[in-house]
Amino acid sequence: MVTVARVRPGTIADELGIKPGTELLAVNGREVDDFLDWEFLTADDALLVHARLPDGVEVEFDIERPEGDPLGVELVPPSVRRCANRCEFCFIEGLPKGLRRNLYIRDDDYRLSFAYGNFATLSNLKERDERRIVEYRLSPLYVSVHATPWEARKLLLNNPRVPNILEQLTRLARHGIQFHGQMVVVPGLNDGEVLEATLTDLWNLGDAVITVAVVPVGLTQFNHLFKGESMGRDHASRLLAAVNRWGDRALEERGNRWVFGSDELYLLAGEPLPDAGFYEDFPQIENGVGAVASLRARLNEGLESLPIMAGRRIGVVTGTAMAPMMGELVRRIEERSQARFEVIRTENSLFGPGVTTAGLLVGADMRRVLAHRHDLDLVLIPAESINDDGLFLDDDTFESLRGAVPMPILASYDFVDVLAGEPDDAVMVGSA
Ligand code: SF4
Repeated sequence: MVTVARVRPGTIADELGIKPGTELLAVNGREVDDFLDWEFLTADDALLVHARLPDGVEVEFDIERPEGDPLGVELVPPSVRRCANRCEFCFIEGLPKGLRRNLYIRDDDYRLSFAYGNFATLSNLKERDERRIVEYRLSPLYVSVHATPWEARKLLLNNPRVPNILEQLTRLARHGIQFHGQMVVVPGLNDGEVLEATLTDLWNLGDAVITVAVVPVGLTQFNHLFKGESMGRDHASRLLAAVNRWGDRALEERGNRWVFGSDELYLLAGEPLPDAGFYEDFPQIENGVGAVASLRARLNEGLESLPIMAGRRIGVVTGTAMAPMMGELVRRIEERSQARFEVIRTENSLFGPGVTTAGLLVGADMRRVLAHRHDLDLVLIPAESINDDGLFLDDDTFESLRGAVPMPILASYDFVDVLAGEPDDAVMVGSA
């Protein structure tokens, strides 16, 4: 059963009198268990919807809708399937205490993998789930593979009951389901032979595995479970060499690179990051694969649209990983805009110096580095560090940060998004 959260005015559901709180029980005689059932069972234009209204009365709606007209209901968000693993490197396991509750939810949900590209391990997949994946053609799925050798995977996921991922992927692949895979690599656990075996197994699944991302293990200062080695420069270089060897092979035999190292892997190895063309259509950018190349490309495209801001002093807050590369980018913006940019390299106070990503900086970090900067006319902070409600991970808000620092602040993904096309004065007043 799913519950209606909102009905869009003027839609079929509105005309039928469906109200928020209505429970949708079945469609065309088939029980509705969750949003996936609802979405797929209502794909037809002739629908018999069995529902329970908020006053408890059960009704049937006989719906003939003009082709493509939306029904107009928004559902109460689903309860998320929890993860049954205990990976030592789990980022959530490494969160400090006292953050907002939903940050501690360890989801492992194939439905969200299909709907939003969240990675799932498929460890909690039941037979019924596999049937649904096939029937509803939930493809591609984003799968945290980590290792295909079973024993290695049990160790990595810290779960002796984890199913055999290769058998799962093979069964699903037989029915035409495709995957984007990721391997979080822990030195000594799934590099070397395990890496080779895993990439070989995934390669042998043919078209079913569209891409694989190889990501070095990342730890916060709170990852007390972790007993393994962290990823040093030598490890990262060897890992990147193996990834590139496989990528070259894929390019030669299949015409695309297939396997990609994350940006973090290049940074750890001290290797230059590839250009945008390397990443094809950026299939795993949400996983930190090609994010820097994409930023460079967007900046290239938008550079000419930046206004002249002669003499302005603009600060750019970023994490310690991106700071060295930011210099090169802002020099180009300086040439175009005639403004003076300063890259403000900022350590993460919440997770510790080992967490270097700009998007994980918190409000307290921004306050620390900006509170006394009366010499700046404007500051750009990473837009990834705030959520849709304007909250940083430490619950500080963008609004209150704006009131606490002595200059206008804009949240930006790529400079161009907030600076382009703005007349000089508007940019300097800043109204994000
Ligand atoms: S699969 Fe591992 S890393 Fe992912 S949520 Fe579960 S315990 Fe954490």
